[in-house]
Amino acid sequence: MKKKFTLLIGTNNRGKLKEIRQLLPKSVKTKSTSQFKLKSPRENGSTFEENSLIKSKFFSNKTKLVCLADDSGLEIDLLDKMPGIYSARWGGKNNNFSKAIKKVYKELNKKDKNWKKRKIKARFICVLSICLLNKKIAVATGKVEGTISSKPKGKNGFGYDPIFIPNKYKKTFGEMSPYKKFKIDHRHQAFKKIKKFL
Ligand code: IMP
Repeated sequence: MKKKFTLLIGTNNRGKLKEIRQLLPKSVKTKSTSQFKLKSPRENGSTFEENSLIKSKFFSNKTKLVCLADDSGLEIDLLDKMPGIYSARWGGKNNNFSKAIKKVYKELNKKDKNWKKRKIKARFICVLSICLLNKKIAVATGKVEGTISSKPKGKNGFGYDPIFIPNKYKKTFGEMSPYKKFKIDHRHQAFKKIKKFL
């Protein structure tokens, strides 16, 4: 049997923590940032990868544990790929997801009053990284393409899930069961590429 090792999940977002824990094999023992009462670092990178590495290095240095962190977000083509790396920040200081969704609709209306009649292409992106102290062990990107729903639907998941309809499906991520979302989403795609390093 594989030796158990302890992995820190480098996120203060409870939705992400839950989803990442579900992806990990049972042979990995996990710790969360809240167990160490750690605040998140400033994400001042200009790409998902830079921000993911800022988090995995920061949390690993604080705890001396191997850390798996994710940086993720929603890119909307009509909004020139916004909110992108600013996805969490659109929710304000308290990470208020309904505020972030309202801002998406406001920005879409500013761009085109008739946007609801169009297919608004969007994608979720996730960059997972594993670091030990300042050493990068692995980085992997996952994407899921889709469109923006004309109104929020469903109460499952977190963040922008109620307004994202993945291609080939009719339901938003917010309407899907966690299991169904998990099978197709960006975090799982990235995880499939990075799991060999765990
Ligand atoms: P960050 O990676 O901590 O900067 O935050 C990413 C933000 O993107 C989250 O706070 C959510 O608003 C959004 N996001 C990332 N992944 C998902 C997802 O799977 N569903 C819905 N929203 C997501």
